[in-house]
Amino acid sequence: MQEPFKCYICNKDIQSRKDLVVTNRAFSRFLTFHEDCYKKALRAGNLLGRPANSRTADIGLVIIWLAALAFFIYTRKLVLLLVLLGSPIYRFIVWYRFERPFKA
Ligand SMILES: [Zn+2]
Repeated sequence: MQEPFKCYICNKDIQSRKDLVVTNRAFSRFLTFHEDCYKKALRAGNLLGRPANSRTADIGLVIIWLAALAFFIYTRKLVLLLVLLGSPIYRFIVWYRFERPFKA
């Protein structure tokens, strides 16, 4: 059994996947929050990074991916290939590390 994730704000266990917000800073350090704690902290003006596991983030990722694909076909710039390969891997890591452990 994996240790439950702790909320970065209140330091209590996060019990459900629906209550979990994952953010990251500069693609390096992941932070986990209760959804309510995250919202409160945001309202208080704390910069905690953007949620990586919300539906909005998923839609944003798809849009970025499609745009990168279109530009890649057009320009053949290799940096775009990195986005095309990197963004699904990044999303997979978030899912694998933080969402998969929750059974329900
Ligand atoms: Zn909390």
